[in-house]
Amino acid sequence: MTDKQNAPANNGKKVGRAPKLDNGFYSQDIISVSQFTRENLEYIFGVAEEMRAIVKRVGSTDLLKGSVLACVFYEPSTRTSASFIAAMSRLGGTVIPITQGVQFSSVSKGESLPDTIRTLESYADIIVIRHPEMGSAQIAADYARKPIINGGDGVGEHPTQALLDLFTIEEELGRVDGLNVGMVGDLRYGRTVHSLARLLCLYDVQFNFVSPEILRLPLDVMNEIRNHDLPVSETYDVSEIISDVDVLYITRVQKERFADLSQYEEVRDLYVLTPELMEDAKEKMIVMHPLPRVGEISYAVDSDPRAAYFRQMENGMYLRMALLAAVLGKA
Ligand code: ASP
Repeated sequence: MTDKQNAPANNGKKVGRAPKLDNGFYSQDIISVSQFTRENLEYIFGVAEEMRAIVKRVGSTDLLKGSVLACVFYEPSTRTSASFIAAMSRLGGTVIPITQGVQFSSVSKGESLPDTIRTLESYADIIVIRHPEMGSAQIAADYARKPIINGGDGVGEHPTQALLDLFTIEEELGRVDGLNVGMVGDLRYGRTVHSLARLLCLYDVQFNFVSPEILRLPLDVMNEIRNHDLPVSETYDVSEIISDVDVLYITRVQKERFADLSQYEEVRDLYVLTPELMEDAKEKMIVMHPLPRVGEISYAVDSDPRAAYFRQMENGMYLRMALLAAVLGKA
């Protein structure tokens, strides 16, 4: 088993991609969904179910009493930061929350990220980081002796979101194999789309991507899907796929990633899920969204039992409790 704390420090050298996870996850970084196998997904989902049962029954436990989580967010966050903080609190640990007003300079040009990480790891046992640059979480992991969890690295990945998304699909529909998954909106800049699409490649699923031309899925993600020989379609029109899908994963257009805001204005309101559109959807299907929504799902859809996005959000806390406990060796 890889034990990061006993490994030599990297002295600032990059060591590349995070390795596949051992089943126990102890002392390992969580940087990319490419580290996961179906086996260790089942393991962590099992732990998340236990966490849900604990929270429902008694609210909290002292499993991680004495442990400290540093939560350092260089980009805005509501759910990821709050659910990690709640997760650590419900496990009896404490949190250093650096989630507001963080100043940063380019990871590739300066040393502020490694220095911040070195500082935080001398106080905390585990660090969750969100940063606007793709690859930043891996860089943090390369410098750190303590485990790093990627809470979103620019347009790269958001692995813990993909885990909670997949956990939600399993909980809601009872399986992943054989499902038809539609992903709608900003497939280019949406890191949650990139991570979930990659993770779903471990299963036998069919993909339907819906976006305008300028927001199509990046080629590297598309190639990964093709390498797995999974059926995939692309269209501009949600109504073409809505009656076929078991999962409709809607995303907001990522305004903050556009260099030219007039381009954003052109595509921002293209897709709005309404009760009328939902009439064509299967009776047993789910609508998901990583949130925040900024108009892509009409509020009138919220009362539809197929609207799973708030349950999905709640699942995030159980899943993150499971990850913290597993990485700190207490699952
Ligand atoms: N909350 C998600 C993220 O951090 C989705 C979004 O911001 O649209 O990527």
